[in-house]
Amino acid sequence: MSSHRLFTDDFKTTPYWWDRTPRPENVDQALPDAADVVIIGSGYTGLSAAIQTAQQGLHTVVVDAEQAGWGCSSRNGGQVSTSLKPTFQELSKKFSADKALEIIREGHNAMDWIRGFIADNNIDCDYHETGRFHAAHDAYHYDWLKHRIESQPKEFKVDARMIPVDQQQEEIGSETYHGGAVFPYHASIDPARYHQGMLRCALDAGVHITGNCRVNDISRSQSIFKVATEKGEIRAKHVIVATSGYTSRTTPWQQRRVIPIGTYMIATEPLPEEQMDRLIPNNRVITDTRKLVVYYRNCPERKRILFGGRVSLNETNPQISGPRLHHELRNRFPELENTRISHSWMGFVGYTFDEMPHLGVHDGVHYCMGYCGAGISLASYFGACIGRQVVGNPEGKTGLDSTPFEGRFYYRGNPWFLAPSIFYYRWRDELLSRVRGIRQAK
Ligand SMILES: Cc1cc2nc3c(=O)[nH]c(=O)nc-3n(C[C@H](O)[C@H](O)[C@H](O)COP(=O)(O)OP(=O)(O)OC[C@H]3O[C@@H](n4cnc5c(N)ncnc54)[C@H](O)[C@@H]3O)c2cc1C
Repeated sequence: MSSHRLFTDDFKTTPYWWDRTPRPENVDQALPDAADVVIIGSGYTGLSAAIQTAQQGLHTVVVDAEQAGWGCSSRNGGQVSTSLKPTFQELSKKFSADKALEIIREGHNAMDWIRGFIADNNIDCDYHETGRFHAAHDAYHYDWLKHRIESQPKEFKVDARMIPVDQQQEEIGSETYHGGAVFPYHASIDPARYHQGMLRCALDAGVHITGNCRVNDISRSQSIFKVATEKGEIRAKHVIVATSGYTSRTTPWQQRRVIPIGTYMIATEPLPEEQMDRLIPNNRVITDTRKLVVYYRNCPERKRILFGGRVSLNETNPQISGPRLHHELRNRFPELENTRISHSWMGFVGYTFDEMPHLGVHDGVHYCMGYCGAGISLASYFGACIGRQVVGNPEGKTGLDSTPFEGRFYYRGNPWFLAPSIFYYRWRDELLSRVRGIRQAK
């Protein structure tokens, strides 16, 4: 299908979620000239931190360069999981076994935290523990996944079960994969609606929100920070940087440690109910085992498929990424060849060199960022932790506090190495698939 015919007549380059949950209006307040805490960034991290500091009576101001929640937090795939990328085995090569366990446990703490926060605050955001089907591309990936699940430390077994290839139709209407694993406690959510609920909690706690107010500089005079913004200067006792994939030269130390990586999504036009039942029968969120991962799911009404991934070496625009994601979608579900795309959008996730989030203090400025594409639970939870750290609450302590937040001598904010890395991983994914396919056939 030509790109032109691939898009519906009402095709949009804004997130599908923004149709379902229109962007918040009338939350913006004028910038005061002083506060106890200024938080830069109004996504899950910034708001979650703000709720903690405001609830302890600190005058808290959240500023965002755009409207509240404009960044990843209202445009993501809505797949909620324990999220930490490194495995226990990988972590124990770097840290002691106890420390590795402590870090892994934080992913589960984050999952518990988000579940509790949504329930305690009655946030209507289509949070459902649908489970995840993590699909294996070939027999080798299936065995690797099985080994990974089975070799978790005894005291910390991951709740998961393997689905062999001859049973995978129960999970997905696709022939592309070689079985996979189901993680029953992973969840789906409407991310923008969740953000809106968090925003309401922040406003109820007395947080002051100023949108369209980019921070250009942070300086310090004795114990007071001066935060220079597009709307004037604000003085504060504490500053929290919560900008993750949108971190810029305003905070150069953090910018040299977080790599912004564009990730892209499409929504299909509405599909017939029986087709939805066949393609993703259990309504689970889906990912797969390649290094260049794709992620997809049904929308909450079960009418469309929302499909995401990285489809270009360099950053591109949604008009170009849309057809490429459609190609990937068709590879999994050939029957969607003539299905059109109603939305195509993107956002920048914050990646780190060790694939772990980081929170802490540098030069007196608190920061919390780098969820490596999996921040719904992590940003919400670690955001709350950094807020608690600012008010001196020991419950804000985390297993990640003492892990070094490393940069690289060759990176000063321009991720020139992304295109070659993506090229290499794509080539490796393809090559390994072919080699394993030939071996299996023998
Ligand atoms: C397409 C897409 C799909 C994703 N899918 C998933 C998923 O399925 N599951 C999952 O767990 N995670 C997913 N993520 C990642 C997840 O959304 C993020 O990790 C999380 O939202 C990060 O929240 P945050 O508050 O740290 O940052 P953000 O929500 O990105 O907020 C940062 C904010 O900082 C503001 N800002 C930046 N610089 C300045 C400045 N100088 N002055 C003022 N404001 C500034 C920005 O405007 C922005 O609003 C996805 C992300 C994208 C883009």
